[in-house]
Order: sequence, then C-alpha cells, then structure tokens
Amino acid sequence: MFEKILIANRGEIALRIQRACREMGIKTVVVHSEADREAKYVKLADESVCIGPAPSAQSYLNMPAIISAAEVTDAEAIHPGYGFLSENADFAERVEKSGFVFIGPRPESIRLMGDKVSAKNAMIKAGVPCVPGSDGALPDDPKEIIRIARKVGYPVIIKAAGGGGGRGMRVVHTEAALLNAVTMTKTEAGAAFGNPEVYMEKFLENPRHVEIQVLADEFKNAVWLGERDCSMQRRHQKIIEEAPAPGIPRKLIERIGERCAEACRKIGYRGAGTFEFLYENGEFYFIEMNTRIQVEHPVTEMITGVDLVQEQIRVAAGEKLRFKQRDIVLTGHAIECRINAEDPFKFIPSPGRIISWHAPGGPGIRVDSHAYAGYFVPPTYDSMVGKVIAYAPTREQAIKRMQIALSEMVVEGIQTNIPLHRDLMVDARFIEGGTNIHYLEQKLAAKPDLPKETG
Ligand code: ADP
Repeated sequence: MFEKILIANRGEIALRIQRACREMGIKTVVVHSEADREAKYVKLADESVCIGPAPSAQSYLNMPAIISAAEVTDAEAIHPGYGFLSENADFAERVEKSGFVFIGPRPESIRLMGDKVSAKNAMIKAGVPCVPGSDGALPDDPKEIIRIARKVGYPVIIKAAGGGGGRGMRVVHTEAALLNAVTMTKTEAGAAFGNPEVYMEKFLENPRHVEIQVLADEFKNAVWLGERDCSMQRRHQKIIEEAPAPGIPRKLIERIGERCAEACRKIGYRGAGTFEFLYENGEFYFIEMNTRIQVEHPVTEMITGVDLVQEQIRVAAGEKLRFKQRDIVLTGHAIECRINAEDPFKFIPSPGRIISWHAPGGPGIRVDSHAYAGYFVPPTYDSMVGKVIAYAPTREQAIKRMQIALSEMVVEGIQTNIPLHRDLMVDARFIEGGTNIHYLEQKLAAKPDLPKETG
C-alpha cells in the first residue's frame, strides 16, 4: 500500500480523500491555491504545498506544479478527486510517466470514455443499451444528415463528441432547423473542446437520470454497486441524488448493472466509474461514462457499506477487488442534498465569509463539508460548500431525517440553497418519487417567487 498520497483537489472532496487516507494509515499532501491557504482541511493534511494563485488555470489545473509538488514531498500516488484534472487523460499520462500512480483508470480508458462517440461505440459492443441515433460522428453530407435524422425521428439532439458539463448540445424539433443546428454545434464544439465532431441522438422528452456505480481492478474483476437517481437537476446540474432509484423494477436494474460490470471487464477498466443513463418508459439508454469518483458517491456508500474512495486507492495500488458481486448487498435508502453558496431561488452565487455554521447530526445523518464558522467561500470556484446525506431503512424515513437535518442546519453570512432543499423535501411529487429531469425547472418556472427565507 502507498505510504503517501497527494490530493490534487480542493474543498469537500480534498477532505473526503484525506479521511479515507487517514483511516488506511496513509499520509497526505494537499496542494492548494493561494485562495485556499487558510482552509482548515489544508492544515489537517500531513503536508501542504501552494501551487499557484487563485485562478484554477494557474493552480488546480497546473500539471507541472502538481507533479513537482509530488516530487518534493515524495508522494507515491495522486488522487485527482472530481472536476479539475480528474478526467484529463494527458494528466493521467504525465503522472504515470513521472513515476507516480494516478488514482483512477488508465489514460487509454479515460480517452476512450472522454470521447462520447468512441464511448458509445464501446458500449454498443459491450451490449449496453444506448440512445438510438447516428452510428458514430455525423458525416459532412447534408443529405446524409437529413436522412439520419428522419430515421432517428424528431426531436433529435445534436451533441459534441468532446462535450461535457452540459455544454455542446442542441435540440432540434424540425427538419428546417436541422442543418443550421449541426453547423452551429460543430463550430461551438471546435472552439470549446478543440474537436468539431458531433453526433445525433433521439431526444428523450421526459427521462429520469439514473446511473450505475462500478468498481474494477487491474485483473478484470468488476462489480456494480447499485444505482443512483440524480433527476433533480437545474441546468443539467444535479442538486439531489438518491439510492436506490424509486420505482424501477430491480430485475431491470440488475440486468443493466451486470452489463456495466461486463463492459468494464471488456475494456479493461480499472478504478471507480459511473455509467450514466437516461431512463424513460421502462428502458435504459446509456449517455456517458464518468471515469472518476462523483460528488454523489456517498449515497452509494451508505446503502452498500463500501468506502468507494478507499477502494479506489486499493485498486490503484494494484490490489485485487475485495468482493464479488454477491457480496454487494443494498440495504436501506440514502438521499444527498448538495449545499451550494447561492441565492436559493435566483441561483446567483453567494461567496463570502461564513459567520455561523451549525451542521445537523443524529442517526443516519452524514455531513461531508470543509466549511465552518469563519471559513471564507472563495468566489473563484464551484459554489458547493458541502453535502448533507440522510440514510434510513426506508425512503420515507430517509426523507423525514433529511427534513429534520435541514431544519437544524444553520449557515449565516452567506446565502445557501438550504431553503430550496427544505421545499423539495416536502414536495408531494418528490415524496412520491420518480420525478424526471425537467421537474425542478418546471416547478421553479411555475412558482417564480417561492417563499424566501434566510439561511
Ligand atoms: P455532459 O457530459 O455535458 O453532462 P451528457 O451526455 O451526460 O452530457 O448529457 C447531459 C444532460 O443532457 C443529460 O443529463 C440530459 O439532461 C440531457 N441529454 C443528453 N442527451 C439527451 C437525449 N438524448 N435526450 C434527452 N436529453 C438528453
């Protein structure tokens, strides 16, 4: 096992990885920008290295600075967390070429899955169901594009092969708008992702977002660890996640889960990963794979009892998976609310100094956060300041526990989306379960001035 790991990330995930390392007796090095110098999680690490000024491009995305920090501190492996360089194949390659272990999949797997066209092709080969659409990238010939769209059936969605973060997509409802949309998406994709390739999918009108967590080792052993429902989204950003997904037949999910594990074996995947699907009318459709740990991983940890970050570290160190599929037993229900520093209904970021911070607790409540009273939320990064996770034997009880947790939680000095979460935890449709990916936006549009509270 490693003696020392460098954590190339910030905020709650930097602290989460530190906790995993400490439990395993591994020393930690945290790299940080000038903006994060005073944060408590930085001081908690065994060592810390400042790698540059606040802007990510000069710090958390600065590959040479991160690799030098690993060199000077004698770290053996680098954990990239999520976001930043976590899905950058070039970074993974540079880390390995410099003699360190990248805690994640091999660069080839990141590359394969990072290009959505090649990812889809790999999934089709592995027997994972995908959204019907063009076979691969769209050709240049306009007649051919029109023919493909007619075959797929309107509405269609044009998506960039190199896209990510909800960008590089355009929905097309009529043939009249098709060619223009393709040209525009291509131009944008070329500028934003350095790859003008686009592909076409049937646009699903009312899907849910359901994803499968996997873990795999170097020896082609792979398991899937249940699913997560992440349909509560705004602008393609998830805000509530839960596991298991309510109301979907277990047999159906098991079939998809098995396919995902099998796909890992086929492509020689190593590490933790997530297969994202849209679920509509009883069918699953693969959309993309995330080759890293995800924000919402705790809900899976709660219902499986598996520490996903520790397992990532173990398989990166070359260990064999410690469990077989039959050892993965799902128990109870878990819900996560992402706490963001923002106006709860207008969604304007609200950075600044936290004056008071009272975290909830009690049975089944887990809070993953690097924040505290006195912590300054920098304006430079993502607005998420923590996650509240509620776990209970049933979904109904988990919702109840989350309601209580949110009623206890106090954050002053900045605005947070806690009032929105409080609203959603008593929303009749959410309580019923199974809302689709448009539900939150439709609710917000229908009630532009929901009651405003502070805190
Ligand atoms: P990104 O990598 O940018 O997150 P995804 O392929 O995961 O891109 O898609 C992001 C979101 O876009 C999905 O969660 C869904 O809301 C929407 N979307 C993508 N493809 C489709 C589709 N074929 N039909 C309907 N919505 C889609």
